[in-house]
Amino acid sequence: MNAVCFSCGQDKDRPMGSCRACGQKPVGEERLISWLLSPSHLGQEELEEASARIAAGTFPKPSPELLAEARDALNPVPHTRVGEHHDPDAALSFKRLALLFAANLLATPLVGLTLWWFWRQRRPVAAKQALRLTAPMAIALMLGWIFLFFR
Ligand SMILES: [Zn+2]
Repeated sequence: MNAVCFSCGQDKDRPMGSCRACGQKPVGEERLISWLLSPSHLGQEELEEASARIAAGTFPKPSPELLAEARDALNPVPHTRVGEHHDPDAALSFKRLALLFAANLLATPLVGLTLWWFWRQRRPVAAKQALRLTAPMAIALMLGWIFLFFR
């Protein structure tokens, strides 16, 4: 079976198509019921059982949970990835800035410059903070090296 008609229980080609037996085409909530009466949700045996029950006059009454499941299947919501920053205006916390300061000092100011480069488009506020912290440090460290080598 391809799909069961929500109205008369006959076999249909497509869950959302109109029924050849009764001419009904699912609209609104009937579309959710039609999805539940399709192979996307039921096995062949269950489809045949549903078909027989509807043909005998029982109108399918799915639970709110099943309707919600059908709604999700028909209108997939793009899932937001966990831990990803979506707020472009999010500023760096004091702890993050302190970490960046330490990284710039102990490793290289390239850490801060790299972050600035990555954040320029997506997090302009954080990028500006990283640059404001890193640029003076980079200059100071560079002057320090020049002083050490050329004195
Ligand atoms: Zn029908």
